[in-house]
Order: sequence, then C-alpha cells, then structure tokens
Amino acid sequence: MRLIWFRNDLRCHSHTPLQRALAAGEPVIALYVLCPGQWDRHGVAPLRRWYVLESLLELGHTLASRGVDLHVIDGGDFEGTVGVVTDFVRQHNITDVFCNREYPLNELNRDRAVARELEAEGVRIHGFDDGVLVPPRSLNTGKGTPYTVFTAYKRRWDQWMEEYGPQVPEAPRWPRRRGRFVGHDTVDGALSALSLGQAPRALWLPGEDAAVRRLKVFVEEHIGDYKRLRDVPAETATSELSVALSAGTLAPAEAWRAARMAMRDPAAREGAVTWIGELAWRDFYRQILHRFPALAKGAPFRPETRLLRWNDNEAHFAAWCNGRTGYPLVDAAMRQLVSTGWMHNRLRMLTAMFLTKHLFIDWRRGERFFMQHLIDGDFAANNGGWQWSASTGTDAAPYFRVFSPVRQSRRFDPEGRFIARYVTELAELDNNAIHEPWKQPLLTGDYPPPLVPHEGVKQRVEAAFRAARDAWSQQAGERKA
Ligand SMILES: Cc1cc2nc3c(=O)[nH]c(=O)nc-3n(C[C@H](O)[C@H](O)[C@H](O)COP(=O)(O)OP(=O)(O)OC[C@H]3O[C@@H](n4cnc5c(N)ncnc54)[C@H](O)[C@@H]3O)c2cc1C
Repeated sequence: MRLIWFRNDLRCHSHTPLQRALAAGEPVIALYVLCPGQWDRHGVAPLRRWYVLESLLELGHTLASRGVDLHVIDGGDFEGTVGVVTDFVRQHNITDVFCNREYPLNELNRDRAVARELEAEGVRIHGFDDGVLVPPRSLNTGKGTPYTVFTAYKRRWDQWMEEYGPQVPEAPRWPRRRGRFVGHDTVDGALSALSLGQAPRALWLPGEDAAVRRLKVFVEEHIGDYKRLRDVPAETATSELSVALSAGTLAPAEAWRAARMAMRDPAAREGAVTWIGELAWRDFYRQILHRFPALAKGAPFRPETRLLRWNDNEAHFAAWCNGRTGYPLVDAAMRQLVSTGWMHNRLRMLTAMFLTKHLFIDWRRGERFFMQHLIDGDFAANNGGWQWSASTGTDAAPYFRVFSPVRQSRRFDPEGRFIARYVTELAELDNNAIHEPWKQPLLTGDYPPPLVPHEGVKQRVEAAFRAARDAWSQQAGERKA
C-alpha cells in the first residue's frame, strides 16, 4: 500500500506525489493530519484555518470520487503528528510515503522524526518540491553560499527556470473504485470551533476549483495591466492568489505556466514578466528561511539589529492595530486587513514601515498581528516582508529609507478612493484634503490627528541603527579580546 501525505498542497492538479503514488497501479491511500495546537502556537488567523479546512473538505470529496480514500486525523501539533503518521503507516502496511517537502524549521524537524522512524522499518519516503518553482538548495553564489540579494538570485532563478522549469505533469492514473472520506466529521468539528467575525464566502472561495478559476480570470483579464496598476490599491490589479499558493490549492507551477502562456500576447507580456518576478520573490524568501533557520526562531537576519531598542508603547501599537494612527492610507490598510483578512502588497510595506520606523515598535509584534489576521499568512513571505520593511532582513530596505505616509497616499491613491472605502469617516473629503485630514479638523468627526509627526522619523531611525551597529562592533571587539 502507498501513502500520499497531504500538507500545504491541498489539490490534485500539478501534484507530483499524487501522480507518482498512483503511477504503479498499486493501492493508494491519502492522509492529512490536523494540527490545531500548531496553529494556536503561531497565532494562525481563524480565516486562514477556515480556508484550509474548507479546502480540505473539497479535496476529500474529490479524492473519494476518484477512488482514493482520504483520512483526516487530529494530531494536535507537530509532535503529535509524528506518532499519528508512523502509527498510520504501520496499521495500513504502507511501503512508500509520497509527499511534498516543506522547508521551515519545525516542519523539517517533524519530517526528519517521521523519516527516522519509518526508514528504520524499511518504509521508503519520496519527497518532492511542488511547493516552489526552484527548490531552496538549488541555487548558490559562486562562493557556494545562499543568495541573500534578490536581483542576483533572480538572474540565476531565470536561468534555472529556462533549463529545468516545471514540465506539464502527467495526469494521475486514478483507480477504478469509489473512495471514502474518513474523518470528515473531524474537519466539520474543527470548522464549528472557529469564531469567524464575518461570512467569509462573500469574500473568499476556498478549494482548488476556485483557485484555478481565479488564476484563469487574472491571466485573461488583468495580467496585461499588472505592471502598470499593481501598486494602486483601489484597483483589482493583483491576483489575490496568495492564499491559494500558500495553502497549495494552486500549484506555483500552474501559475507560472499560465503567465508564460500569457507572455505570448505582446500586450500582456510586460505584465506577465513582472508577475513571474513575484513568484520568484516567493521562492527567494522560502530559500532564505530554509537556509537561515535561526529566522524561524524570531532572529533578525542582520545580527546587529538584535541590539535595537524598540519602543513598547502599547497605546501606539493599539492605534496601529485598530487603524487609528491618523494617517489615512495606513489606517485604511489596517482596516482592510482586519475586515477582509488580506492587504495589498504596497500597503503591507507601508504599514510595516510605519510600525517599525514611525512608531519604532518591534517588527515581530507586527509580524504576529499580520499572522493573526491574514488569510494568506505564510511564515516565509511574512517574515521576509517584515524584515525587509524593518531593515533587519536580507536585501532589506535601507534603514535610512522611510516611506512618507502622505506621499505614498498621494502617489498610490491620488483620488482617495481606497481610503474612502475603509476610512468612511473621511469619505466626504476632497481628493486633496483626504490625504492630510488634520488640516480640516472641522470635517473629520472623531478621526484622530497623527499619532506621531513624520518629520524627524528618518533621523531618529538612523540614530537608533547607528547606536545598534556601534554597540555590536564594541561587543564584537570584547568577544575577540
Ligand atoms: C510586511 C509584509 C508581509 C507579508 N506577508 C505575506 C504573507 O503572510 N503571505 C504572503 O503570501 N505574502 C506576504 N507578503 C507578500 C505580498 O504582500 C503578498 O504575497 C501579496 O500582497 C499577495 O497578493 P496577491 O496574491 O494579489 O499578489 P500578486 O501581486 O498577484 O503576486 C503573485 C504571488 O506572488 C507572491 N508574492 C508577491 N509578492 C511577494 C513578496 N513580496 N514576497 C513573497 N511572495 C510574494 C504571492 O504568492 C502572490 O500571490 C507580505 C509582504 C509584506 C511587505
């Protein structure tokens, strides 16, 4: 008997473990282990849990209709998962386990523990890399070290993709039988335990069918304008496929192939090339997390930034969380996050920089708050984005670069359309006043004045980073002495 162990790859298309497990015509069974304890530990958003669980329901029914039984078992957390998987393998006389690799530290430790036990008993484990386009250990600099600068990584990534990029996968050889979905009630139970603040289906459709449809619509209708409009949050210009890519209801290979097809149309070419660049960013942060495992324990990539003395101003943190900083675009973005579970990329950068530069609050607090609300909460991309914005990471924004919330607002939401959608108390202000409402105090109701002035932020941040760097050099000198 062969086993497919599903994790963050809740689909049947472009799924090498599924295709390979079924190829021999031997009996195949599938397993998914729920880990609510792991979700709790990492503060995973209820909306994301909902997306995963609903997608799992769809997967279970699809597999059953095609002749493969899916078993869903509650393992508690990753430690519990090891016991669940090894017991399952023994009970079902499994000879071969097929799965897609996962790269963060906890996932690696879980998989190593499972492999240690099972390989000692003669079970063969077959790992694949469908979760990325370029596997994290494939690209090295001339010195044999990992790439830490995106532009250099992307050059090699393009070459690798030309040479070895994903081929169209063979279709799975489905067995001729009716399968069973065992553990449906476990998924239902987990779903009913969630407290969701809204009716999520009005905003998000889980499952691989919806993901594949969304990709099709994006590529047919929007990809041509992607380069021109992707920074304008009032437009529907980006794919909003991040949740599908991170939960694996959409294969990155499928996304890449669709964009490559779109490139054949000269009008869509530039947009498609730019979009493929974003898929490379996704791989970049995955390889960074894999190759610098200390990042998974909350460490900054730049060691000297460990000595930054962040502010602990709870009132400031609460104002940022609640979209009441007094800067309309920052507040609109935070309200978009809390009310929809998603935030536009330009605004993720803006709000993260605002928290870490204007308020000088530790990026880890923002990273966690994002995870608690994002439907697409993804450790590698979230950590990468936060460390980029806080200037503590690889290839990060230089610490002396600080986005001005007003200039970003005038540039990327010139008519204030996005602001008016989420900061409704400012909706009546004109295109000019909406960016600096404090200049119209009589028209803004209880909307707060700016929490901190923009002036002086750059100098304060520079001084703090300089102090951290000096302290680090001094400590290094003491360590040597
Ligand atoms: C502070 C911060 C936190 C972030 N947290 C997450 C997160 O938890 N999960 C997440 O998927 N992305 C995260 N991102 C990256 C990016 O903002 C989102 O991937 C993007 O906004 C999702 O929207 P989209 O699907 O429409 O993207 P599109 O513009 O359509 O891009 C296509 C795909 O490329 C990938 N991608 C795009 N930009 C990036 C990027 N900068 N880094 C890594 N992958 C990228 C995503 O998978 C995305 O779906 C974060 C960025 C920042 C600055």
